[in-house]
Amino acid sequence: MTEETETVSYEPPVEDDECDHEENTLTMNDRCDNCGAQAYVQAFFGESSLLFCAHHYNEYEEKISKIATTIFDKRSDLLEQSRR
Ligand SMILES: [Zn+2]
Repeated sequence: MTEETETVSYEPPVEDDECDHEENTLTMNDRCDNCGAQAYVQAFFGESSLLFCAHHYNEYEEKISKIATTIFDKRSDLLEQSRR
């Protein structure tokens, strides 16, 4: 009996979050999990993540920063936009 040894070569994406945050850019389609407003912060908790608007991230920042594994804070984009 012959077994098919041809397997699709699959290389899991290497997570090098340290230097490449570009792929985690939040868009207008990303909504705060609390209120549905546009999300500006994405917090990762292991394999899951939550989105926060600026308002709710301010509210939960202390808790989130303690338990989140990674935080993408795009509030600086919000400030840049509001200046224009
Ligand atoms: Zn919110």
